[in-house]
Amino acid sequence: MRLMNIIHDSVVDGEGLRTVLFFAGCPHHCRGCHNPQSWRMQNGTEMTIAEAVAEIASNPIANVTFSGGDPFAQAEEAYQLALEVKRMGKNLWVYTGYTLKQLLAHGTAEQRLLLAECDMLVDGPFVLAERDITLAFRGSQNQRLIPRSDIRKAIQANAARL
Ligand code: SF4
Repeated sequence: MRLMNIIHDSVVDGEGLRTVLFFAGCPHHCRGCHNPQSWRMQNGTEMTIAEAVAEIASNPIANVTFSGGDPFAQAEEAYQLALEVKRMGKNLWVYTGYTLKQLLAHGTAEQRLLLAECDMLVDGPFVLAERDITLAFRGSQNQRLIPRSDIRKAIQANAARL
C-alpha cells in the first residue's frame, strides 16, 4: 500500500479525534485540489498493512479516517486495512472523489467491499465553483456525508436492480 502521510489527533477529517491515513494516487484531478502531489501513486511511500495497523493501534482513543488522494484507487489494500480497523473496534470514515452512485454502478469488486466497511463516506470530487469553507468535514457543496445505514440501503437497492 502506498501512503502520502499518517497524522494523529485530527479533528477536521471526521467526528472526534481521528488518525488519518492519506493514500497516494488520485484519478480525479479536481481543479483547486488542496493536495495535487497526492495524484501520483509514485509520490507515496510503501507501507505494509501490519505497519499501518501498528501506527493506528499506537493511538488507542482515536477513530480512523482514510483520505488522500483517493483510498478507492487502492481499494484492495484499503479494504484489508479497513477490516483491521473494524477488528480494533474503531469507526471508519472514508473520503473519495467518486460518488456513491458511481461506485455502485461502475466500481470494482474491491471498491464495493471497501464501501461496505465505511461508517461514513464523504463522496464526490472537490468542485471549485461549489467551494464552501463553512461546511464541516468537506470542501464543496456537492460532497455528501453518507452514513453506513444509507450506504447499506444503497448497496441493497443496487443489488436488487442487478
Ligand atoms: S478527489 Fe481530492 S485529492 Fe483527488 S483531485 Fe479531487 S480534491 Fe484532489
